[in-house]
Formats: sequence, C-alpha cells, structure tokens
Amino acid sequence: MRKLSVFLILVLALPIFLFGCNSSKDDEISHYSIVGSYDENLHALTCEQTLVYQNKSDNALSEIKFFLYANSFNEGNKVVSTSSQDKAYPNGESFGNIEIKKAMSEGKDTNFSLNEEKSILTVSLDAEIFPDEEVEIYLSYIVNLANINHRLGYGNNTINFGNFYPIVCVYENGFVENEFASNGDPFYSDIANYDVEISYDAKYTFVSSGNVVKETSENGKKTTCINGEKLRDFCFVLSEKFEVISQEINGVKVNYYYYDDPNAEEYLELSCLVIDEFSTMFGEYPYDVVNVVKINFCFGGMEYPNLVYISDAIIDAETYRYVIVHELAHQWWYSLVGNNEFQEAWLDESLTEYSTALFFEKHSEFGLKYEDIILGAENTYRMFVDVYESVNGEVGESMNRSLKEFATEPEYVNCVYTKGVLMYDSLRKTLGDKKFFKCLSEYFDAYCYKNAKGEDLIDSFSKTAKINLESFFDAFLSGEVILDN
Ligand SMILES: [Zn+2]
Repeated sequence: MRKLSVFLILVLALPIFLFGCNSSKDDEISHYSIVGSYDENLHALTCEQTLVYQNKSDNALSEIKFFLYANSFNEGNKVVSTSSQDKAYPNGESFGNIEIKKAMSEGKDTNFSLNEEKSILTVSLDAEIFPDEEVEIYLSYIVNLANINHRLGYGNNTINFGNFYPIVCVYENGFVENEFASNGDPFYSDIANYDVEISYDAKYTFVSSGNVVKETSENGKKTTCINGEKLRDFCFVLSEKFEVISQEINGVKVNYYYYDDPNAEEYLELSCLVIDEFSTMFGEYPYDVVNVVKINFCFGGMEYPNLVYISDAIIDAETYRYVIVHELAHQWWYSLVGNNEFQEAWLDESLTEYSTALFFEKHSEFGLKYEDIILGAENTYRMFVDVYESVNGEVGESMNRSLKEFATEPEYVNCVYTKGVLMYDSLRKTLGDKKFFKCLSEYFDAYCYKNAKGEDLIDSFSKTAKINLESFFDAFLSGEVILDN
C-alpha cells in the first residue's frame, strides 16, 4: 500500500462440483473455488466457497483457521486514522462485516467459531489430516459492504472487493493469526489457485485478479468466470463508470481502468514501462495480465495479484505516477515474494519504495530524479525525527515492528517507507551496483511464489554479496543508525 503522508510531500460457493468454471486443481498448492452473487441494493455479496487445503506442515491438523478481514469494518474497529476519516467516509460513517452461515468438512456439517476480534475463523475438521494430505472445507457467507472508500466497500465511483473472502492463515508452528490494523496491510497468505465465478448487475464493468475464462449475460445479470494460477490473493472491482484501454508488453496485457482521466494514455504507457523495467531488473513478471485500476480509495494505492488500486483522490499527476510505480513494484515484493505484512511490513514496503526510486532513476523523462528522491527522503526523515523529538521528547526509529507497535501513521510511514529507501540506498553504495542488483534478482529468484522472512532476505543478500550483512541491516532495522549530515 502507499499512504500519502504530509511528511512525504517532498517527493512527491456452492461446492465446486455444482458450477461451471474450469477447475485448476494442483496437487501441490491449495485451491479456492468461490461462487458469489452481488446484490447492489443490499450492498451484499453472497458466496459459497470451497477450499481444498494441502497440509504442507509436519503436524496432523484437526482444524483450519481463516483470516476474516471483512470484519475489520465492524462497528468499533478503526480502519482509518482520524486524519483519513473524511476521505474514507464522504457520506458519513458506515459499517460492514462478514456473516459465516455454514461450514462443512469433507461434505459434512462441522463446527466453526470466531475469536473475540472476529478476525479469525476456526473450522473443525471431520477427521485429522496428516502431513501431505488434503481436506475440503466448504463455507457459505455474506459479505456486507460498508459505504467506505477502502480496500473493501462501496463508494460513489467503484465497488471494491479487496480481501473480501475468508483466506486461510499461513501455517508456521501453528496457524499465524494476524490482527486488524489501521496502519499498513495486515495480510499474510500462501500462493494458491483460484476458480471464481461472480454474478452482478449487467450495468457494471468487472475487473479482477486472474484471467477471465468466460463471461455470460442473462436477465440483466452478468456472470464472469475467472481462473487464477499461483496467486497470493484474489480481488475484484465493479464500476458503472469504467473505461478501459490496453497495451501489451513482453506478452503481458496491461489494462488501465479509469474514469474522468485525460492522462489515461500516459498512465497506460507508464504501467507498461514499469512491468518491462522490473521484469529486467528483478525477474520476469510471470502472469498474462496486470490491471491498473482507478478507484475511490482513502489511501494512495493498494496492491493485489494482477491488480492494483490507484486512488481517484490523487489530484497531481506526479503523485499519481509515483503511486502507479509503487503499487506495480508490489507485484514483485508482496505478490510474488510474499511476507507477513503485519509482522514485518518493512520487508515488502521498503523494497517496494526503493524499487520506485530505481524506476525513476532509469526513467528521468518523468521529471523525478533518483538523487532528489533520496535527498527528499533524508529531509523528510530528519523532519520527522525533529518534530517527534520536540513534541514527545523521544522518537521510535525501529523499522522492525508489527503494525500494532507503530504509535502513529507518520511513525509507520517514516520508519518503514522513508527510512527503507535510505537503507537500500546506503546498501547499494556499500556493495556497488553490480552486487546490489544481483542481490535483488537472486532474492527474487529464491523466494518467488514463497514467503520470506527478514532473516531470509538478509541471508540471501549476504550469500550473494559474499559479505555478512547482518549488522548492516540490524543497525537500520533496530533504529540505531544515525543519519549523517
Ligand atoms: Zn506499498
């Protein structure tokens, strides 16, 4: 995600066998089948979902846990900071949730429960599953949308379905149970295959992750079937206002969905350049399609596999271009190389923000110079430290904190994004360009379609550079580095 902080202005299912979408069952990774129908009068998406879950752990499992992001819109939860409240709720405060109606394990009704925050759904299994076995979990549920310009919600221009469905938690020593957070992206998931079928009023244009395999119209309703292979998540957006323009680059179809945009051609061109540049710099973009989608959104942008949100609230072209580059960089850092964004937000966000600087270094025609981005980050970071020290007497400078441990939005943005840019700039100066870029591509290669931890990145970079970089990273991550004047 890209937030727009004042400190940053310087640079700136019925079970699957009942329905027609082709199944793409893969023995190695889990498979979601979701059949949903959107009622625009109730602002509700009714779904039936079947997950074939592969137990890749070393333990026998008697239950499966899912993250229910849709419940973060429940009354009482804070999904935006006070400063973003007006942008999020132009029509007044509104709430949403997900109601789980039924759960089945291997075709038999089973028990399910929610934790106190309603963020985690636990589904009991009919029988234990052992390592390398699979289990089929069926869920039926209704997602009730809030009237909010957010990842999930309906606004005046678009209806956003980011993180709408119960997504299985990553299993480490147990299922990792993330919490809701108003700062940053509280997400963590494994790569999976998807077959999704969504029905909606024919007045809408539909765009999503994955590839559209079939679209039908009947009685004023459209139904779109999508297949997505090896995706970290699945998202879709509906709008009555969308126009779309497309261009192909290196076999990837790049689509720009927009409304009210005189610069549409330029943004499509830019998106193609970004896919091309990062494919050369880090490793090839392996999917057939990427959708850059203008939406009503209270932050700058948001990343999903094959689909990025760009906020229609951004009024200047320079910031809009910056956010497009940032969100597309997430296709490499978050979507392909995954990580626990709740525990280690720095891992994808710092690299994504620095990748954005690298793009503009290669493409000075957009008027943003690499040196100016670095200088801007230094000035911004110093200003943040000065302001916080004078107000609070101290400032938290550690990058390596969970989202819950950042006290304020500026603290999160400056420690994770701004300082992250300075960390990678410093590392590049230390290693030299040849080694530094080799570190990036080797790390991408080693963790593509997997999840990485901070220590994996440090190990990978150290091996490639043939230097132990632990103390270098620790100094930045722990907050010990004092920036030189
Ligand atoms: Zn981001």
